Amino acid sequence: MKKHRPLTRSEIMARIRAKDTAMEVSFRRTLWRLGLRFRKHYGRPSIDVAFPGRRVAIMLDGCFWHGCPKHGTIPKTRREYWMPKLKRNKERDGLQTKILQQQGWRVQRIWECEVKRMLKNEGELRAFLEQSGLLQ
Ligand SMILES: [Zn+2]
Repeated sequence: MKKHRPLTRSEIMARIRAKDTAMEVSFRRTLWRLGLRFRKHYGRPSIDVAFPGRRVAIMLDGCFWHGCPKHGTIPKTRREYWMPKLKRNKERDGLQTKILQQQGWRVQRIWECEVKRMLKNEGELRAFLEQSGLLQ
């Protein structure tokens, strides 16, 4: 077998970020099961889970990339690389929210850890969806 150089953390993170995370997939699957119909990666800036008819935009924010207050820790190595990068992510999130709001979207951002909790607790998920005007 060919030996591969181990991936650096940033390479691993880049790969994780590039495609749908397991959390996103299972969130969307659960919404589908609850009878909700939506578009994924919709519009510009791209909305993770969009309900165009109701103008509700759900953004699923990974705890690491988007700097969750509980889990958004900056890696100890290469801080000079990570700090500005993660700061830019947060700024971009804020800007995207503003742009989407200007386009008339009601923007709901949820942390990965909250999504995971809601996936384990359907009552909580339903409450979130009701509060977002998606379920009655
Ligand atoms: Zn978190």
